[in-house]
Amino acid sequence: MSTPIVVMGACGRMGRVIADLARDDEAFSLVGLVDSRTDALTMTGDCATGGTLAEVLPRCPGAVVIDFTAPAVSLADARLAAEKGTPLVIGTTGFSPEQLQELGELAKRTPIFWSSNMSVGVNVLMKILPELTKALGDKYDIEMVELHHNRKKDSPSGTALMLGECLAEARDWKLDDVRCSARDGIIGERPKAQIGIQAIRGGDVVGVHTIYFMGPGERIEVTHQAHSRETFAQGALRAAAWLAGREPSRLYRMQDIF
Ligand code: NAD
Repeated sequence: MSTPIVVMGACGRMGRVIADLARDDEAFSLVGLVDSRTDALTMTGDCATGGTLAEVLPRCPGAVVIDFTAPAVSLADARLAAEKGTPLVIGTTGFSPEQLQELGELAKRTPIFWSSNMSVGVNVLMKILPELTKALGDKYDIEMVELHHNRKKDSPSGTALMLGECLAEARDWKLDDVRCSARDGIIGERPKAQIGIQAIRGGDVVGVHTIYFMGPGERIEVTHQAHSRETFAQGALRAAAWLAGREPSRLYRMQDIF
């Protein structure tokens, strides 16, 4: 049986790719497309379409919603999903701690999945990084540089923060206590307990994250490059198939699928 999918943010960079993949994959049926830019909702076939999820959801019974939009929009969708018992996959990044906490509460009422990076590569990296960090020991300074396209709204990227949290945990630090995302002027020596995360923006870069482990006489660089948005879209669809029929719990993450 195919999983019915509603794509929220269907005219966006991610939404378009997700809708195209769902349309071409018999494991899914694309039943709804939502975007506030309703004039751009073209080539919709049999789909229910509209400018808000509240308008489209009643026409798509049993669907899983995939949402790649903006934090306030995704949160409003999660509130509606919790009311209706609709499973929701969120790929949006840039949530505040308070917004994430509310998402966690809503996940107790309807199955909600959230990952700031849906690629297999980054999530496998999350498994390997703690081991690498611990094996190298604390003589190695950790820094990260991320590159994204010039339309990206949040900085550092959700992926950089997720990787940063993973690295900080491996050192028994909290990322918020040790993150440095700007250096300018007479900044003095680099503190030992620090993880630098710098953001570069330009062109049409889909996403590159490089982590540097810099120690005495040597340096290790670990780079993940997303070549296309398809890798994230495939991950979102995989999460939707996994989420369908699941019970509400805590906020599900990519590690739950692996
Ligand atoms: P985008 O700006 O291209 O697309 C967002 C779409 O949402 C737009 O079409 C916009 O019209 C629509 N939208 C905005 N507000 C709306 C509303 N109130 N109601 C209905 N539609 C609305 O952005 P994008 O590049 O597709 O990225 C979207 C989000 O996904 C960002 O937060 C980005 O960082 C994140 N992202 C996550 C992953 C991942 O793997 N988790 C990968 C890439 C991007």
